[in-house]
Amino acid sequence: MADGCLFCRIVRGEIPAKIVAETPECVAFRDINPQAPTHVVVVPREHVASLDAARDPALVDRLALLAAEIARTEGIAARGYRTVINTNAEAGQTVFHIHLHLLGGRALGWPPG
Ligand code: 5GP
Ligand code: ZN
Repeated sequence: MADGCLFCRIVRGEIPAKIVAETPECVAFRDINPQAPTHVVVVPREHVASLDAARDPALVDRLALLAAEIARTEGIAARGYRTVINTNAEAGQTVFHIHLHLLGGRALGWPPG
């Protein structure tokens, strides 16, 4: 855990968030600035700064499969959705606690900006 990390603080319940799902290893909550009708952020409870810093292959599996489960629960799985992990500055990562965005509920353009 990192004391000042925003997502660690959400995981610890120190900052309120609209929690969508919790597992022993992950927490999913609604993005505060949603970019689509469904915009959920899935994070590990453990602090890992970015995908570049990740070493446990199961970590990304857990994030992705929890997002897939939430997509089904949200009713967007059949229509389609996108999962994104922004990594470091040029990709626009702003919170340095690894997180997977789940976006859906509207047609999503490609390529992304
Ligand atoms: P990044 O830009 O690092 O890929 O994504 C960080 C995301 O966290 C952004 O989409 C941003 O809107 C979201 N975010 C930032 N601060 C908060 C917060 O306090 N609560 C919630 N729920 N989301 C946040
Ligand atoms: Zn953290």
